[in-house]
Formats: sequence, C-alpha cells, structure tokens
Amino acid sequence: MIVLTSIAGRSVIVTGASKGIGKGIARVFASQGAKVLIVARDLAQAEAAAAEIRASIGGGEGVVSAVAADVSTAEDSARMARTALERHGGIDIVCCNAGIFPAARLGEMSVADWDQVLDINLKGTFLAVNACLAGLKERGRGRIIVTSSITGPITGYPGWSHYAASKAGQLGFVRTAAIELAAHNITVNAVLPGNILTEGVAALGPEYIARMTSAIPQRRLGSVEDVAYAALFLASDEAAFISGQTIVVDGGQVLPESHMALDDL
Ligand code: NAP
Repeated sequence: MIVLTSIAGRSVIVTGASKGIGKGIARVFASQGAKVLIVARDLAQAEAAAAEIRASIGGGEGVVSAVAADVSTAEDSARMARTALERHGGIDIVCCNAGIFPAARLGEMSVADWDQVLDINLKGTFLAVNACLAGLKERGRGRIIVTSSITGPITGYPGWSHYAASKAGQLGFVRTAAIELAAHNITVNAVLPGNILTEGVAALGPEYIARMTSAIPQRRLGSVEDVAYAALFLASDEAAFISGQTIVVDGGQVLPESHMALDDL
C-alpha cells in the first residue's frame, strides 16, 4: 500500500548532514529515491557521510553527494544552492538543520558566544532559505523544513539561553516565511526534536543519557530516524496544506507538568 506519494527524483538540500539528525534526514530521504546534497563545513566528514549513505542504499554520486559550506555566510549559502542546481537541475526541498549547541551560562557567556550560536542557528536558517528561494520558486512548489528544538520554543535549560533564543527565533521566521511563500506553493514548517541520540548527545556521557531518559515518558532517547520521518512527512505532497506549523518529536518529554508525573510509571 502506498501511503505517501514518492519523493523519488526530488532535489533535496540538507544542511548539517555530515552527522547526527541531518545525516539521518539525508539517509531517509535518499532511501526514498531523492537526490540529496549533504552540506557541512568539514568536507571530509560530509563526503564520508555521503559515501556511507550511498553504500547503505546502493546509490551513486548522482543520488547523494556532498559540498562544504558554512550556512552562516551568504557566499557559502549561495554556493550551496548553486551546487544543488548544477548537480540536480533544481531545488525541491530544503532542510535547514545545521546547528550548534555549546553551553554557557549567563554571566560567563561572551558576546562572541552569543553571536556564533545566533549566526549559525538563526541567521544560517535565513541565509540557506534565501539562497534557495529562486530555485524553489522556479519549480512552482517547494518544501522548507527547519530543525528547531523543544528547547526555546517550549522549554528552557541552563546553559542554553542563546541556543534557546535561536531555536525560538527560527519559529518566528517559519511563520512569516510560510505566509510570504504560500503563493509559490512553498510550505515552511519545523520539526522540534527532544533528546535525540546523536554522536554529540552520546558524548555528553552515560549519566546525562540516563538522567535524560528518566525524564521522557517513553523511557528512551529519540533516534535520528524519528526526526527524519517527521521531516519526510512534511516534505510529502500530502502535507501540501500544512504550513507555518511544528511537529514535536520528543517521546512525550514536554508533557509532564512535574517530575512527579513520571514517578509512578
Ligand atoms: P551534530 O551531530 O552536532 O551535527 C551538526 C551538523 O551541523 C554537522 O554536520 C556540522 O558539520 C553541521 N554544521 C554546524 N555548523 C554548521 C555551519 N555553520 N554550516 C554548515 N553546517 C554546519 O548536531 P545534531 O545533534 O544532529 O543537531 C542537528 C540539529 O538538530 C541542530 O539544529 C540542533 O539544534 C537540532 N536539535 C538537536 C537535538 C539533539 O538531541 N541532538 C535536539 C533538538 C534539536 P560541520 O561541523 O562540519 O559544519
């Protein structure tokens, strides 16, 4: 039974796809037959991710390839878009996923710390979208999917005030971009992951993971595929009438009104 119309052949850009959630999105979209451009600053890591995905789906370089670009600069974002146009002949889907999450508490956070997080997470979202706009409009339909977070839009966490501001800011961008691009049949939505078991989260150590797991009703961290399939749905033809919206992917993490709600499970 076909549940969603195939996205085979669609041109997809995934920023921040050399590892973590972005690599998961790239893998899931490529496994559905899409042509995926993997974007990250470190070219060797991006190419390694592309090679790994090609091996797992049995595809060639026309299906998954990599480019080095820093989405916090307009020049690199433009080169990223040009690369997709050259390699895929157009742009159908843009996943603005690149993000960083260094921790710094207020009082210790420098202006440079703040600027770096906002430049990559928030300005990088605008720059990636901006660079791809002409390509998306030319197709007469398009999908923009932003990886935000529960942190900022819904919750807070000590050490991440700059990160939370960037992730909440992305949603303001999503809502207005959704209105502006509606006439071009381009939808703009966001996925809000909770704690997802990426290499970066794994590096926070077993104690962090155990404590975080205990705060999630489903008693597990999410997988990168959990987020990728939400993005895939938003990229589908069937999601055409959904724009400016969010999907929380967190195993119920934001639901308990206090830790006591989980004690008796
Ligand atoms: P990750 O494993 O650290 O991967 C981050 C990716 O972004 C890498 O490919 C990195 O490659 C790339 N990147 C970073 N800065 C970039 C830049 N300026 N330009 C282009 N690429 C850049 O991160 P993740 O945990 O998968 O997180 C991905 C997204 O999900 C982020 O937006 C994050 O805020 C969000 N998120 C994650 C979680 C979680 O639990 N992991 C939860 C909620 C939201 P280079 O360093 O080579 O550039």
